[in-house]
Amino acid sequence: MAVEFHLFEYLSDNYGVLLRDDATGRVACVDAGEAGAVLAALKDKGWELDELWITHWHWDHTDGLEEVRAATGCKVIGPAYEGGKSFTFDLSVKDRDSFSFGGVDVAVWHTPGHTLDMVNYYMPSEGVIFTGDTLFAMGCGRVFEGTHDQMFTSMEKLRTLPSETVVYGAHEYTIANANFALSVDPENAALQARAKEVEALRKAGTPTMPTNMASELETNPFLRYDQPSLRAMLGMESASDAAVFSETRTRKDNF
Ligand code: FE
Ligand code: ZN
Repeated sequence: MAVEFHLFEYLSDNYGVLLRDDATGRVACVDAGEAGAVLAALKDKGWELDELWITHWHWDHTDGLEEVRAATGCKVIGPAYEGGKSFTFDLSVKDRDSFSFGGVDVAVWHTPGHTLDMVNYYMPSEGVIFTGDTLFAMGCGRVFEGTHDQMFTSMEKLRTLPSETVVYGAHEYTIANANFALSVDPENAALQARAKEVEALRKAGTPTMPTNMASELETNPFLRYDQPSLRAMLGMESASDAAVFSETRTRKDNF
């Protein structure tokens, strides 16, 4: 791998990620909810920060932005959409933009729903995507600013990723997500097995991130709106994919 990834925890259940491009030594960080945690992770690795990539405006992803910028002189990249516009980014990015990290291409995918400004950062050559609060292990973000239809469209986009793609979501919500997933997809053997797996990981204090698309397509109910078993469980055999997604999201809100 040309890029090294380092996951770190902050606040009660957030994940940030540091990246280092081997060829150029360039270092980036995804999100900055807590400056102290970013700076400590950099110190742990002995890396100096060049770039900060912001996924969306929520405080648990941006509160440390100015302090990290002041401490490191890093360039800050973030969404050019409403919400993101309340920050000063050195580079504002929107859907289908791309930029170079060292020599590595980073594609920007707009995935609104949780917020209107949400962007995900996809590195095709590394097979890695940072999904912020759009896609989690066995879950998706709560729809705060967008509509269920917007979030559905974002799921449709993410489903086009190659199945081997490694997915870094920004929160450790996995146990709660697994419990909900089992409630709507109880006969899914892959889901049952994975629920046991993540329970053991969390008991040992091990992060369940990153995940990957293959596993999400098998176990994440928010990506499984076209599956007969899930549809039957919801009594929505002939509904549209968007309606099945919406019902699943509503049930999770009330779970
Ligand atoms: Fe958020
Ligand atoms: Zn968040």
